[in-house]
Amino acid sequence: MDPRVRCKAVRSPRGAKVTEIDWADGHKGVYPHEILRGYCPCASCQGHSGSISFIAPTSDIQTELDQIEPVGNYALRLQWFDGHGSGLYSYKYLRGLCQCEECRPGESKNDRGELPRQ
Ligand SMILES: [Zn+2]
Ligand SMILES: [Zn+2]
Repeated sequence: MDPRVRCKAVRSPRGAKVTEIDWADGHKGVYPHEILRGYCPCASCQGHSGSISFIAPTSDIQTELDQIEPVGNYALRLQWFDGHGSGLYSYKYLRGLCQCEECRPGESKNDRGELPRQ
């Protein structure tokens, strides 16, 4: 498997606003919860077709992570404090969502454009 989409470790301390993912190629992924929740790829957030849009979270419990559950060896399921938990984030999708300084230098950090489905 491509080491860029192989997850080695996930760090998400309770109450944290950012989750970190260590990828097998040595890249350290940075995922603010606002981004993770806003780009939830599930059908109830995004419908069944088209690209994935950023849906701005409207309350704090929407961006507080309750649980992270690996699904097979290809995805993580994220459960949020407001009860939402149908989003399956494939590792390929997560890799593209990385907000670290290297992946999103300078102004591109504020970009909330549409993303392709993975
Ligand atoms: Zn969703
Ligand atoms: Zn990155």
